[in-house]
Amino acid sequence: MGLREVGFWAQARVGMAVGRALDRGRRPLPPPAPLEEVVRGPMTPGALTRLLEGRDNAAREAALSRYFLARAIPFSRHPFRTFEGRGENFSVDVGSGDRVLLLIAHHDAVPGSPGANDNAASVAILLTLLERLASRAPARTRVRLLFPACEELGYVGARAYARTLDPRGIVGALSLELPGVGDSLALWDATEETAFLRRVGGAFEGLGWRRDEGYHVVPRIPVFGSDHRAFAALGVPAYGLTTVPAAEVDALRRFIFHPVRAVFGRARRPAPFDTYHTHRDASATLDPAALDRTLAALEAVIAECAR
Ligand SMILES: [Zn+2]
Repeated sequence: MGLREVGFWAQARVGMAVGRALDRGRRPLPPPAPLEEVVRGPMTPGALTRLLEGRDNAAREAALSRYFLARAIPFSRHPFRTFEGRGENFSVDVGSGDRVLLLIAHHDAVPGSPGANDNAASVAILLTLLERLASRAPARTRVRLLFPACEELGYVGARAYARTLDPRGIVGALSLELPGVGDSLALWDATEETAFLRRVGGAFEGLGWRRDEGYHVVPRIPVFGSDHRAFAALGVPAYGLTTVPAAEVDALRRFIFHPVRAVFGRARRPAPFDTYHTHRDASATLDPAALDRTLAALEAVIAECAR
């Protein structure tokens, strides 16, 4: 076990303790949606968010594999066990070719939170994307959808997966987090210009979104992180992708770059952080238009990468 691993482990535990302390008025969660009803229900991001929402982490993991089996979707299992945690990552490949675009949505949640925006909605977006790609797989690019476990423990699942991976051929990675609240997208941990970042920006511009209006590019942020960092550590261009309200961008910048002051001070937590890691992170707070926007963004990125 390296110092780096201990650092991840400690950081994750501090983050969870802070989250629990701040989640005032916690209460038992309402029961989750009946699993088979969701598995056989409509394939939209909103409906599929209920696949994982409100379940504990073991049940979330089981629900996702049940979905793949019930829909006869070929998928790979990547179980792992380290001193930090254990679980199962899942992956699904679509398309063919040596160039791989990695799209990531962790399936675990913080205990005590229904985990809708973080991160059931991101999983639901990738499942909807998978359904759409089934009829028109991208040419010359393989899209790998990766669903790691234990992100909330410090990207444990993504780091275990990354250790088995040959990063050559991976053109870029995007980790979806909090896709359901707001009217613009934020691409974060994007400190350096890369060919992949230009492609993603080009895809967004092609949708008519302007930088600093329809989408925002944010350098590496402290405290918060996501699974993409496991791949950035391998030299892969890898970013977080989150939906944010354009009207809150300045407040969000203050919050994410000064999180300790923002969290412990009396400052209002701007959306989407008002429900983040709390019992209030339920699908009723999500905007279907925001989910559709992220889906459209990913389809545009895939088209751009396949050009
Ligand atoms: Zn998350």
